Amino acid sequence: MKQEKIILTGDRPTGKLHIGHYVGSLRRRVELQNSGLYDKIFIFEADGQALTDNIDNPEKVRQNVIEVALDYLACGIDPKKSTIFIQSQIPELCELTFYFMDLVTVSRLQRNPTVKTEIQMRNFETSIPVGFFTYPISQAADITAFKATTVPVGEDQEPMLEQAREIVRRFNHIYGETLVEPNILLPENAACLRLPGTDGKAKMSKSLGNCIYLSDSADEVEKKVKSMYTDPNHIKVTDPGQIEGNTVFTYLDAFSKQEHFERYLPEYQNLDELKAHYQRGGLGDMKVKKLLAAIMQEELEPIRNRRKEFEKDIPAVCEMLRQGCEVAREAAAQTLSEVRRAMKINYFDDETFVAEQTARFTAAK
Ligand code: ATP
Ligand code: MG
Repeated sequence: MKQEKIILTGDRPTGKLHIGHYVGSLRRRVELQNSGLYDKIFIFEADGQALTDNIDNPEKVRQNVIEVALDYLACGIDPKKSTIFIQSQIPELCELTFYFMDLVTVSRLQRNPTVKTEIQMRNFETSIPVGFFTYPISQAADITAFKATTVPVGEDQEPMLEQAREIVRRFNHIYGETLVEPNILLPENAACLRLPGTDGKAKMSKSLGNCIYLSDSADEVEKKVKSMYTDPNHIKVTDPGQIEGNTVFTYLDAFSKQEHFERYLPEYQNLDELKAHYQRGGLGDMKVKKLLAAIMQEELEPIRNRRKEFEKDIPAVCEMLRQGCEVAREAAAQTLSEVRRAMKINYFDDETFVAEQTARFTAAK
């Protein structure tokens, strides 16, 4: 049988989605969805995973389930082409996580660089919730339950995918070829691998409050771009400036196209010329920020407007999610029945178990 091409990706409903999500994964998902090259596309909200570090704030997760769904729809995820679902509504995912737990060692989890960084980021120190610590395992279950072949995500997810692949290999080695090894699909543009926050620190992340949200108003976007981190040593316009680590230029790398220069800054042919001028000196931060603000507005305005349309019919958004959960549950249930068979815990699927055990005891007599 020809292997189906299946996409799975998701986000934690811990806040509205930001431009890091957009360039790291969301923009790509929409392109892949519309390419028609994939047999199935699953996009999910990892509410169970969001609770691992928000266990005392269920209201936050509940509200953001709708916010994230609106962001998906606003960006062009089309429920007719992609199944959007909510992790907690698929109990098969918990079951698969439970089986996978025996295929991973504690020390392997401790070595996972993403887990390490995220533990630090949240100041958990020694009081790490077990659920949070083991979330790479549940993420492997999310991916494999849908037999995903392709997982388009940002660079921070690379160790997660590696862990998932290891689990699949171990599972198939012990129980026979059952699960599919997923491949990561990283953004091609280096600036999009891990978009920094507007403060220039770390990656843009809902938990760090350094984001430009897809739903920010035009004024908010303007304000955030104007106050962005640049080169702290570029004080006078005439000073030579640095491009490396300069967030405004990183965002231009992620968002600007040739045509933007024709439209907003025709005295430069392209981004390289603008960068060269900045490095030479004589180009002020404000001029560069103005260009970025114009580009951001152009990109975000249609998303913002579409979101407003979807916001007018929340019951329809809820119904779309409910139906998505139904479709997803069926797919996961199919995989789980294969998993149970492979692991020999499918006692009551058919008569085999009764027959073989009866034979064993009959033979013993
Ligand atoms: P949290 O702070 O709750 O972890 P987050 O902002 O890190 O939220 P996630 O829901 O963890 O967002 O990530 C969802 C997807 O978006 C993942 O594929 C991740 O790689 C991608 N992503 C998140 N932030 C960025 C970023 N700054 N640059 C590129 N990709 C990103
Ligand atoms: Mg994250």
